[in-house]
Amino acid sequence: MKVHPSSNPRSPFAVRKVRPVVRSFRAAFVPNALTWVRAGGHAIVWESAKKATLVVPKPVKGNAEDYGKWAAYDLGRRILRVASTGSFAGFGIVSLKGDDLAIVEAWGIRDAVHMKPTRELFLDCVACGACCRNNTVVLDAKDMKRLRSGAPKTFVDRVKRKDGRLVLTLLKDGRCAALTKKGTCGVYEYRPDACREFPAATECCLFAREDSLGVLDGATKGPALFNVSEFAEG
Ligand code: SF4
Ligand code: SF4
Repeated sequence: MKVHPSSNPRSPFAVRKVRPVVRSFRAAFVPNALTWVRAGGHAIVWESAKKATLVVPKPVKGNAEDYGKWAAYDLGRRILRVASTGSFAGFGIVSLKGDDLAIVEAWGIRDAVHMKPTRELFLDCVACGACCRNNTVVLDAKDMKRLRSGAPKTFVDRVKRKDGRLVLTLLKDGRCAALTKKGTCGVYEYRPDACREFPAATECCLFAREDSLGVLDGATKGPALFNVSEFAEG
């Protein structure tokens, strides 16, 4: 099977990452789900086909690369809640409903091929650039100062205001205006903090890679270890 250059361990800037593997559990198997999470994985605990909870380790304060937090961000949450009572007390949780359910089910299917709670992978951001497409990069005053100190004026002048925030301009095809044809960042030294801090191997990264490059870090279809449609049939 052909490996994308950005997933090749021998790629010049490849960095080793260990990411959580997502697994689905019935509500009757909460202790198993918590064992999985304690070992570094992420669990989806299904109460019914329309109600589930994503359970992740309690976030570590100050860790910008916290995988649980980024899973919550990928689901559109701004914060990751820590349960104080109930079966998930002490764990990070996201209550899932509506469109969330299809998203997390796809995570479970993707990860059905990974047998352990965590998975090692290698990512070369220079050969990837997926998160430089179709992404809203918000800038603050520090970012603007840095960009103005050396990025091409034509690029800086294209920064625009969107919903009251300064954001990088995307071209019609969704690429950041600074993304070169080679897939590298044309303003690398001056790039905004959001670009510097976007953590590889998180759910947001995996989504960007799947969406922009068609690279999936696992299976394209089942079998998931747990079939949600059982509930619908029941
Ligand atoms: S999506 Fe972004 S963070 Fe993830 S591997 Fe690609 S360049 Fe790196
Ligand atoms: S500034 Fe550079 S790193 Fe940031 S989105 Fe644009 S091309 Fe990517």
